[in-house]
Amino acid sequence: MRKPYLAGNWKMNLELKSALGLAGALREHVGSRDDVDVAVAPPYVYLSEVIVALEGSPIRVGAQDVCDRTQGAYTGEVSAVMLKDIGCDFSVIGHSERRRLYGEGDELCNTKVHRALEAGLEIILCVGETLDEREEGKTETVVRRQLSEGMAGVPGDQLDKITLAYEPVWAIGTGRTATPEQAGEVHRYLRGMWAGLYNEQSATRLRIQYGGSVKPSNAKELLAIPDIDGALVGGAALTPEQFQPIIDSAS
Ligand code: PEP
Repeated sequence: MRKPYLAGNWKMNLELKSALGLAGALREHVGSRDDVDVAVAPPYVYLSEVIVALEGSPIRVGAQDVCDRTQGAYTGEVSAVMLKDIGCDFSVIGHSERRRLYGEGDELCNTKVHRALEAGLEIILCVGETLDEREEGKTETVVRRQLSEGMAGVPGDQLDKITLAYEPVWAIGTGRTATPEQAGEVHRYLRGMWAGLYNEQSATRLRIQYGGSVKPSNAKELLAIPDIDGALVGGAALTPEQFQPIIDSAS
């Protein structure tokens, strides 16, 4: 049985005071419950303080991205080793905003995956098609390429460190949500593909989050789909009033 995994991607939002307020509220709400995994991905500059604020809580803290290099003259970048050093649990890799706005391709995502795993971080690897790709019937081709190229060379003993997030680009921040059936279909496809790339056992353990305008009003029906194992939430993860009911929808 896969434990539901709900992660909030704060993107470039909040300020220190509101970030700590949100972390504190979630800490209180989640308490010590262990029927769901809850995570937050604050902006880099607030990571350390959020990590301290959540110390002793089961809520996991991760970065929204990671550099593909280990160290050196890469102005403005943050390495996986640095993230691990300050206590991060994971990094999001391949978010569609990185792919679309900053031109990140599958090869770069794959290098980031390797840097993160080498540093001992877990990963949420995002895949998803654009609206044009969906309308052209290319959804499976696109997510297949993103998954196989993003995971290239990852050894079998690291597979449990990976969570996938299926995030149709047309549903992110747009208010348009994939229907539970649309999302479930792609989740099933990804799990089947994982079984082919690796093995059935690992595919059964793999958690696949759905992301794209998840909110309190639609979380329950999305999370009820057998292959949807949680959610990666953007806008609705920015306030306890919205994120907490999403967390509660999973149990
Ligand atoms: C995201 O940032 O990964 C996301 C899914 O955003 P939103 O929930 O706002 O669509």
